Amino acid sequence: MYSDSGAGQASPDRIIALVDCNNFFVSCERLFRPDLRNRPVVVLSNNDGCVISRSDEAKALGIRMGAPFFQIGDLVRRFRVAAFSSNFPLYLDISRRVTGTLEEFCPRLENYSVDESFLDLTGLNRLYDIPEYCLKIRETVTRNTGIPVCVGAAATKTLAKAANHAAKKHFLPGGSVVIQDDFQRRRILKWTPLGDVWGIGSRLEPKIRQLLHAGNALEFAEGDEYRLRHNFNKTVYGTWQELNGTPVFDLDDQPAPRKQIMRSRTFGNRITDFEKLREALAGFAASVMQKLREEHQYAGTMGVFISSSPFDERPYSNSASLNLGHPVNDTVTVLNGMDRLLRHIFRPGVRYSRGGIILWDLALTPSYQTDLFDPGMQPGPDDARRKKLMETIDRINSRKHNTIYFAAQGPAAPKISRQTRLSPAYTTSWKDVPKVR
Ligand SMILES: [Mg+2]
Repeated sequence: MYSDSGAGQASPDRIIALVDCNNFFVSCERLFRPDLRNRPVVVLSNNDGCVISRSDEAKALGIRMGAPFFQIGDLVRRFRVAAFSSNFPLYLDISRRVTGTLEEFCPRLENYSVDESFLDLTGLNRLYDIPEYCLKIRETVTRNTGIPVCVGAAATKTLAKAANHAAKKHFLPGGSVVIQDDFQRRRILKWTPLGDVWGIGSRLEPKIRQLLHAGNALEFAEGDEYRLRHNFNKTVYGTWQELNGTPVFDLDDQPAPRKQIMRSRTFGNRITDFEKLREALAGFAASVMQKLREEHQYAGTMGVFISSSPFDERPYSNSASLNLGHPVNDTVTVLNGMDRLLRHIFRPGVRYSRGGIILWDLALTPSYQTDLFDPGMQPGPDDARRKKLMETIDRINSRKHNTIYFAAQGPAAPKISRQTRLSPAYTTSWKDVPKVR
C-alpha cells in the first residue's frame, strides 16, 4: 500500500479500522445525565479506589488516570467534579449496542476491549470512499447509541491505532483519520510519541529510544532493521513492520497483552435459579481463565455482573468486584471468588438475561507480595500442583474442544446461546451426533 516504505507489500485493498469510544465509562454515565455534559466527570475503580475514566474537563484539571480518589478530594470539591462508581452492567450493555451498530458496517470485527473494536474493511474501497465511510460509521454510532467515538483506519492494525490516536489527541475535525498514502503515514507517525505506539508501552520504550535513537513512531519505523531484529523479540519487529505498512497482526492477534479480559453473553433462556446462573458464569470463568493463561497473564481483580432485560417491569442489574490479593491465573481461585461475588449480588425473583465475568489489573508476573500474616497468600507446593493441573486442563481442552469442566460449571456445560430456536447440527457437527448410552 505504501510503496516507498521499503517494507514488504500489502494487498492494496487491505483496510483495518479501529473504532474507539471516547472516555467510554464517563460517556456512558453522561447518557443518562445530560446535565453533566460540560462538567468534569470521573469514574472510579472498585471500592471507589482510583480514577479509571475521565471526561475532557477532568483531564484539563490535571486529574491523572489511576489517581487515587482520596488524593484528588480538593479538586473534586473546588471544581464540582462528578464522581461515579463503576457500573459494569451498564457499560457492557452500551458496549454491546455499539458493537451491534458496527456490525451493520462490516461482518468481520474484533472486540478488542470493552470500548474498542477493529473492523476489517478490506475490499470496501472498491465500493465506497473510505474516509467518507469512516465518517459515516462515526456518525451512526453516535446517533444510535449516544456515545462519541473516534475512527482510525489504515493497512495494518498498528497504523490504525496510530491514526485513531491522532484523531483523538489532535481533535481533528470529523474525529476520523484514514491513512491512504505514504505521506499521510509519515505525518501521523511523526505525531505519535514512541510510548503511544501499540505494543511498545513504557517497558520497552527506553530501550528502543536508546538503541534506535527514536523519540516518535516515525523515527522508530525508520530505525535500522538489522539492529532491531538483533535486540528485540519477534513482536517488536512485527510492530515495526506494521508501522511500515506490512500487515503482521490479523484480527484477534495483538502485539501486547491486554489490560482486561471479559466474557459476557445474553442467555438464550432467562435464568432465575441461582445454581443455573452460577453454572453459566462458571463457564465464562473457565474460558476467560484459559485465555488469560494462553496470554501468560495474571489477574489482580475480578468482577461479576448480572442483569435482567432493561425492558423488564423492574429491571435489575448489579455488579461486584474483588481484589484477589495477589495476581492469579488459576481457575479454582477465580471460581471461588465468583461464587462469593454472585451470592452478594444475586437477587431472587429476577429473570436474568445477561451475565459475565471481567478480569483486570492484568500483569505478566504473579509478583507475590509475601504477607507474613497470611500464609495462604504465599506460593506453596499447592500452587505448583495447581499450576500443573491448569496446564493439563488447558492442553486437553484445546485439543478436544472443551471436554474437561470444573464441577461448578455443572454436569452439562452451560449451553448459552441467543439462537433459541436453533436445532442441533446432527449431521454436520461431530459433537452434536446423538449418543447411545
Ligand atoms: Mg476509549
